[in-house]
Amino acid sequence: MISLKEVSKTYISKNIKTQALNNINLDFNDRGLYFILGPSGSGKTTLLNTLGCLDKPTSGNIYINNVDINLYSEKERDIFKNQNIGFIFQSSNMVEHLTIEENIILPLKINKINKDEIEQKVRDISKKLGLEKEIKKYPSDLSGGQLQRAAIARALINDPKIILADEPTGSLDSENAKNVMKILKEISEERLVIMVSHNESYAYEYGNYIVEIIDGKVESYKLINEVKYIYNKKESKKTLKFLSLQTSVLLAFRNLISKKIRSIFTILGSSIGILAACIVLTISNSMENYSAYMQKQALSTYPITISSSVNNTIDPDDKNEFESYPNNNIINVVNKNKSYYSHVNVFSNEYFEYLKNLDTTLYTTMDYSNSVNMHVLSESEGKYTYLPSSSYFSEMNSNKSYLESEYDILYGDGYPSSENEIALVIDKYNCIDAYVLNHLGIKYKDINSYTFDEITKKEYKVIVNDDYYIYNESLDIYEVYAAESSEAKQKQLYDKSEITLKITAILRQKKDAKSVLYTPGILYTQQLSEVIHKNNSNSKIVKDQLKYGLSKNVFTGKPYEDTISDFYVSSKEYKLESTYRTLGYYYNISYIRIYTDKFENREAINEYLQNFNINKDEEKQVLYSDYMGNITKEFEKFIDILMLVFTIFSCVAMLVSCIMIALLMYVSVLERRKEIGILRCLGYSKQNVSATFISEGALIGFISGVIGIGASLILAKPILSFVAKVVVDSYSSTFDVSSITSTNFNLLQLFIIIVCSIIIAIGSSLIPAIIASNRDPIESLKDRGE
Ligand code: ADP
Ligand code: MG
Repeated sequence: MISLKEVSKTYISKNIKTQALNNINLDFNDRGLYFILGPSGSGKTTLLNTLGCLDKPTSGNIYINNVDINLYSEKERDIFKNQNIGFIFQSSNMVEHLTIEENIILPLKINKINKDEIEQKVRDISKKLGLEKEIKKYPSDLSGGQLQRAAIARALINDPKIILADEPTGSLDSENAKNVMKILKEISEERLVIMVSHNESYAYEYGNYIVEIIDGKVESYKLINEVKYIYNKKESKKTLKFLSLQTSVLLAFRNLISKKIRSIFTILGSSIGILAACIVLTISNSMENYSAYMQKQALSTYPITISSSVNNTIDPDDKNEFESYPNNNIINVVNKNKSYYSHVNVFSNEYFEYLKNLDTTLYTTMDYSNSVNMHVLSESEGKYTYLPSSSYFSEMNSNKSYLESEYDILYGDGYPSSENEIALVIDKYNCIDAYVLNHLGIKYKDINSYTFDEITKKEYKVIVNDDYYIYNESLDIYEVYAAESSEAKQKQLYDKSEITLKITAILRQKKDAKSVLYTPGILYTQQLSEVIHKNNSNSKIVKDQLKYGLSKNVFTGKPYEDTISDFYVSSKEYKLESTYRTLGYYYNISYIRIYTDKFENREAINEYLQNFNINKDEEKQVLYSDYMGNITKEFEKFIDILMLVFTIFSCVAMLVSCIMIALLMYVSVLERRKEIGILRCLGYSKQNVSATFISEGALIGFISGVIGIGASLILAKPILSFVAKVVVDSYSSTFDVSSITSTNFNLLQLFIIIVCSIIIAIGSSLIPAIIASNRDPIESLKDRGE
């Protein structure tokens, strides 16, 4: 069955050549107990290891069932070892942290074999070897004889055709030794047992053949006893599989348990790493939330504003033309307050079209403050006052559904819908400033509050141009007649006016409103604007001004002229436009506001607005301002830097746990050398061996991850509260602390952390695992690792 042809083995270590086997020719039959005798150092172990595929001969061939085992690939050798060979050594080589049963079934773990079958096999074998009582114990609880029997059980469990035993009785007393010999004798009746020994008397008592080796050569080959019993066994076909996850995790887990203290320290060490990473993540989560919150707050409250007139004042900080901290004795004169009211944004149809094409998903609303100048007369206890045309009186956004999402109607049946209906806006405290009331012509002295009913009694009248301005024939100019006239005259105008405005609704911004469209004041409808505009267009004063154009100002009788002073520039065209606006002939789009609540969107809008000005003459360009955008840009930068710092920090933390795990793994490899040797002898492939180490790493990673996350869940709150407190202390702003503390990680992040932790642990155990699996099994067995 086995035949060796001119097998030689030379060891070369430190330039010393040792010829352990010298041209060996030998044949072994299928059954029987072969004794290999010889003095120490004669090459017996080397011979056995070469037969068992643990070692390769330097030259010559070994045929097993007519197949040259030198031709086997590494994988095939592993399979061959597992299926056909059972090893028994001088010491039992049990894996210390597994029970006897678990040790015995190790060779089966890489076979496709079901649980019941394994149990049956264990029962049979333990009965055969008298180990029934010891099966659940650990190796350290067994005597030498029991251990050696367990080793035989393990060698037999997979029913191999060849048993290789290297001085199996060497460390046993004679009673136990005889026991073992009997067992080996018995099993040799149905398979080949090759046993190395230097006990000649056993050889003659139990052996069938004796091979004597001296100096690596076969000295003699004798038949002592014929092989008695011919046993015809059915060949069972077996297939190998990769070591199951369960087994490798079991091996890893048991190993961890057996090295409790060290495992605990490593797990603690690496979970601190995970903890640090988690805390950093939580903080950065909160920062991100805070940043989003800030953006929403700041960006939605402060829209991108496109004003009709742009003050081109030089930015006070824009002094790039000057050298900073100069060394000369010169004082520079700058006129930084000089304002140019020359550029007027022209809101042409083209521009409105352009704005309409802006991606509607980018902004929450666009508010045209499309107003027309009107003269509103208020009556209070017989006294008449004109409301100063101010921002407290503005046209309502025509997008009703947006308004409904932003404002609650506290009083009234709905938003104003005709030219006679107006709405009063109050703030979130239901407050309205006395100053505003003054501008609205509402009495406020000695009054603490109004009921909705009281305040909605208020009415206003609009005085049209033809009544408001009168022509002075002698001077050929127009004068504001109404302003100078007597109380009686004003009453007359008030009563005569056909346009009455009634407060029909009181509006208050919703709690979760996205933008602040209106400050407290009055809102009127688009219909009113149209009525007034139509009326104004037909008024005498407008018609006259249209007739004169730049050549004459209807109020002064003089032509329009540019005003240029040291500090101020105002062009004549701009002045004429102002007149038209005053007369309510030009629509007074004082600004267009674009509200958005995301920074990226804001950038996109900015870009879109800038693109309009490309290749346009300066006077046709439309300039706009985005004050808040600039601030949040800075804030974004700050957050980005903070995130970078946090990321580096957590990387360092992760690195620490990485190193911890790699160290543990390396120590573990050193400690488990023997186990590696045992597994390799049992036919475990390199991959199988590395799998157990990688499992160990994964296990550590998982446990560390869970502990780290658990700890951070407990610690995150107090740490964040502290951070929040510091933030609030250093910026006594109206900062909502809840936005920082209320956030923890979401489930996905927890999952990712655990996965990362496992991946890192596996990664850092990879090198030790590779080292482990590449160790020479014989060398590993020689180590007294435990
Ligand atoms: P035995 O088992 O008969 O005592 P061995 O087969 O262990 O003898 O060793 C045979 C010879 O080969 C000895 O001289 C031993 O020193 C040498 N030898 C065995 N293994 C190695 C090795 N891995 N490297 C170098 N020399 C070795
Ligand atoms: Mg030996």
